[in-house]
Amino acid sequence: AYEGILRRQAMRESAARTYARSLPIVPVRARGLTIEGADGRRYLDCLSGAGTLALGHNHPVVLEAIKKVLDTGAPLHVLDLATPVKDAFTTELFATLPREFADNARIQFCGPAGTDAVEAAFKLVRAATGRSGLLAFTGAYHGMTSGALAASGGAEDVRVTRLPFPQDYRCPFGIGGDRGAQISARWTESVLDDPKSGTPAPAGMIIEPVQGEGGVNPAPDGWMRRMREITASRSIPLIADEVQTGVGRTGAFWAVEHSGVVPDVMVLSKAIGGSLPLAVIVYRSELDTWQPGAHAGTFRGNQLAMAAGTATLAHVRENGLAERAGILGARMLASLRTLTADHPCIGDVRGRGLMIGVELVDPESPPVGGGNEAPPDPVLAVAVQQECLRRGLIVELGGRHSTVVRLLPPLTLTDEQATAVVDRLADALAAAER
Ligand code: PMP
Repeated sequence: AYEGILRRQAMRESAARTYARSLPIVPVRARGLTIEGADGRRYLDCLSGAGTLALGHNHPVVLEAIKKVLDTGAPLHVLDLATPVKDAFTTELFATLPREFADNARIQFCGPAGTDAVEAAFKLVRAATGRSGLLAFTGAYHGMTSGALAASGGAEDVRVTRLPFPQDYRCPFGIGGDRGAQISARWTESVLDDPKSGTPAPAGMIIEPVQGEGGVNPAPDGWMRRMREITASRSIPLIADEVQTGVGRTGAFWAVEHSGVVPDVMVLSKAIGGSLPLAVIVYRSELDTWQPGAHAGTFRGNQLAMAAGTATLAHVRENGLAERAGILGARMLASLRTLTADHPCIGDVRGRGLMIGVELVDPESPPVGGGNEAPPDPVLAVAVQQECLRRGLIVELGGRHSTVVRLLPPLTLTDEQATAVVDRLADALAAAER
């Protein structure tokens, strides 16, 4: 029967469908790290709903919170009305945010998706500054609606000035690390300060503290602080897109905590809804120059998502899961790096916490772009993903050339599961290389 489901989906759904192509499975049950397919096979899910499932699938505290709302007969949808469920969510969320930020912040419920909150952030800073330009980075991903898409890497939009992201590995400038960070900062200053640069007056700068879809590129902490100085001294609001990095994933509850940077706007979604759709922006109250009704949206009041989100945030906070993600992630990065000795196709292993990327290259081909690095190998990457699937491991591919194997396991991952993930990936690499 599941083959019929796959066949009908292939016939009926858009040609744009993505995961369904590379991961032809039909999930029917799931718990924690594990997904069970209709064919009875079990998979370790390191995609986690594109990083949404901080606590894995169907965590008991999330299910309990959802059931509680259903049992009390509370309305499931309340637009932007005040409710006890929403009050609990906002209180818990503000308790997790950096003090300096939360003490003087406002929240706008957007939604239901991350891209909606990105649009709201752009609209907010444009309204507050009266300017329209945006500063965004190479390798960025902010969503699929027109504004968010325009700010994503590869897109062209007259109002968006593209700046080099320092860790955008194999970036067009062929630079990374400290040197990349310095060049990026100098580039940014010259673009902003040169009247001939043609940069439209910026309403804001948007940064992912670790680029996810762009291929797991962590922003160096010093560079984050530099960007904060550059924007603050020119009164340009800084927007931190923590849609993917938030809720403990990178080893801090919010990834901006690593650098200590206090942004003006934070864009939050994915894990804050505990696997249900929820997206908000939280921002410095001085930016709150909107008129009533200036920003709206029907699906701002999903009570199940708020309850699931409250339970998730509280569970991560009470159980120190951010810290755990940091420790476990560092261990996984170290074991993945030991694989490079046997697998010359591993061009790079990078990440922060449980946001991990393994970049695959073709060591036999001549270097490209004047650097000394082997070129990315998209064919091998697809083969590795398929070999992983054969071994019961679900991974996603990301990065400029789709050559970065991405691991986004839940923060509840056990030591044994972490070892199993690395072992299966190592087996898959060996099989695909042949
Ligand atoms: N920002 C970042 C950093 C993301 O990773 C994503 C989704 N991958 C988005 C925004 C867009 O979120 P959504 O897909 O929910 O619109």
